[in-house]
Amino acid sequence: MAPGKRFRVAICGAGIGGLTAAVALAKFPDIELEIFEGASQLAELGAGIGLFPRPWEVVRRLGLEADLLKATEIKLTEGPVTSFRYRKSDQPRGLDFYKLVTKGNLMTFHRSDFQKVLLSKLPRSCRIHCSKRLRSYAQHQSGPIELFFEDGSTYTCDVLIGADGIKSVVRQNLLSEKARWAQSEGRRAEAAEYAAGIDPVWCGTNAYRALIPAERLRARWPNHRVLTQPTQYLGEGGYMLAYPISLGKMINFVAFKSQHHLENTKFNGPWVSPTDSSEFVGMFRSWEPEVQALLDCVEKPLRWAIHTVRPLGTFTSGRVAILGDAAHAMTPHQGSGAGQAIEDAYILATVLGHPSTTRGNLANALSVYDRVRRSSSRKIQERSRLNGQYFTFHIDGVSFSNLGEEQLWSNLQKLGKAFTKNWEWVWTTSVEASVQEALRLLQESTAGR
Ligand SMILES: Cc1cc2nc3c(=O)[nH]c(=O)nc-3n(C[C@H](O)[C@H](O)[C@H](O)COP(=O)(O)OP(=O)(O)OC[C@H]3O[C@@H](n4cnc5c(N)ncnc54)[C@H](O)[C@@H]3O)c2cc1C
Repeated sequence: MAPGKRFRVAICGAGIGGLTAAVALAKFPDIELEIFEGASQLAELGAGIGLFPRPWEVVRRLGLEADLLKATEIKLTEGPVTSFRYRKSDQPRGLDFYKLVTKGNLMTFHRSDFQKVLLSKLPRSCRIHCSKRLRSYAQHQSGPIELFFEDGSTYTCDVLIGADGIKSVVRQNLLSEKARWAQSEGRRAEAAEYAAGIDPVWCGTNAYRALIPAERLRARWPNHRVLTQPTQYLGEGGYMLAYPISLGKMINFVAFKSQHHLENTKFNGPWVSPTDSSEFVGMFRSWEPEVQALLDCVEKPLRWAIHTVRPLGTFTSGRVAILGDAAHAMTPHQGSGAGQAIEDAYILATVLGHPSTTRGNLANALSVYDRVRRSSSRKIQERSRLNGQYFTFHIDGVSFSNLGEEQLWSNLQKLGKAFTKNWEWVWTTSVEASVQEALRLLQESTAGR
C-alpha cells in the first residue's frame, strides 16, 4: 500500500454501480482504489437509462450534474412535471388515460454518455484494469483478501466491492461462504436461505430493446408523441415504453412481453441475445396505430430475459460487500435498478470514507452499509415487481376488457393512482435520510467499542 493510505479497496465490475462507487470513493484521497473489469474494454449497452429525483440527488452530490446536463435535451425541473403519459393501447383506438406527475423529472440518457461522464471524474490515480475477470476470492480472519482472476493473476486488497452485475461471482462466493459457516454451526435454515440467493431467477418477462433514430420515426409518423414525451403504452400481457435520448436524436424503445405465471422459473436460452422483431411484434399487432408506427421502426432488437436476485439475507461478509445488480437485481418496471446501484455506491463510500473507519474496523463499516441499504432495496424490488403487474393489467379481481366506458375509465384511474402511490418514493423521499442513518449507526457502533 502506498504511504499515507488508510486501506486498499478493489472494485470488481465497472458498470454504473462500480464506476459510481469509484467516483464516490475517489473523494477520499487516503483510500487506495483499483477497479477490475472482466470485459476487454468499457462499453455500456446501446440503450437509454432514466434517473428519477432520488438518485439524481447523488449525481448532484458527486459533482456530475453539470456534465450530465450537457448530454441530454431534458431540462432539469424541481417542481411538479409530467414524467410519463399512459395509454391503454391494446385496442384499435388508444385511450390516453393518465399522466404520472412527479416532483422533479425523469432525466434520460444514452448509457454510454452516462458512463463517459463517470469516467471523466475518476482521478488518474484510480486505475481500471480491463480483461480482469474475477474467478474467486479468499478472505481470512485477518490479513488481506486475495483475488483470483481467470487469467491466472492475483491481487490483494483490504476491502472487496462486488459490483459485478446479476451473475456476480462475488455474490456466489460470499453467499457460499456464509452458507458453509451457517451449516457448520448447525444453522441449517439460514444456510439454505443463503444458498437460495446464489442463482438469479427469471421473472417470466422478456424485454425487447432497441434505439430508433428519431428521423426514421418522424418520417413514418411526423410529431409522434414519443419524440417529445416519454410514454408508456399498456395492455394485457405486455407494455411498451419510449422516450427521447441523445439530445433528441434517438428514441429509447422497450417492449415487454410478460407471462406472470412463469415468475421464478428457469429461462431456457441466453439471457441477452440479438433477435428479430417477428419474435414480439405479433402480440402487439392488434394495438393502436401509434404503437404500430414504433414497431415498424424497430431494427435489430435485443432480447433480455429479465432475471432478478431473490431478496438476500446479507450484502456483506467480513470485508466483502456487493452492490447494484449483484446484490438486488430487480425488474425494470420502476426504472430504478441503476438508481439503486448509485445509492448503494454513495452510502458505501460514505461509511468507508468516514474518518472513524480504519483498516481495523472495515467489517463494521460494511455492516452499517448492509443495514441501511438492504431493507430499502428489498422494498423497491417488490414495488418494481408490482408495477410490472399493473402495466400489464394483471391485477386480481380487476378487469380492463369488455367493460362499459365509464367502468373502464374508473378502473384505469384507480390503476394510475395505484402505480403512482407505489412509485412516489422516488420523488418524495431523500437520500439524505439514508446518509444520516448510516452516520448515526456508524457513530453508535464505534462508540460502543
Ligand atoms: C430493459 C431494462 C431497462 C432498464 N432501465 C433502467 C432505467 O431506466 N433506470 C434505472 O435506474 N435502471 C434501469 N435498468 C436497470 C439497470 O440497467 C441495472 O440495474 C444497472 O445497469 C446495474 O448496474 P451494475 O453496475 O450493478 O451492473 P452491470 O451494469 O451489469 O455491471 C456489471 C459490470 O461487471 C462486469 N463483470 C461481470 N462479472 C465480472 C467478473 N467476474 N469480474 C470482473 N468484472 C465483471 C461486467 O462486465 C459489467 O461491466 C434497466 C434494466 C433493463 C433490463
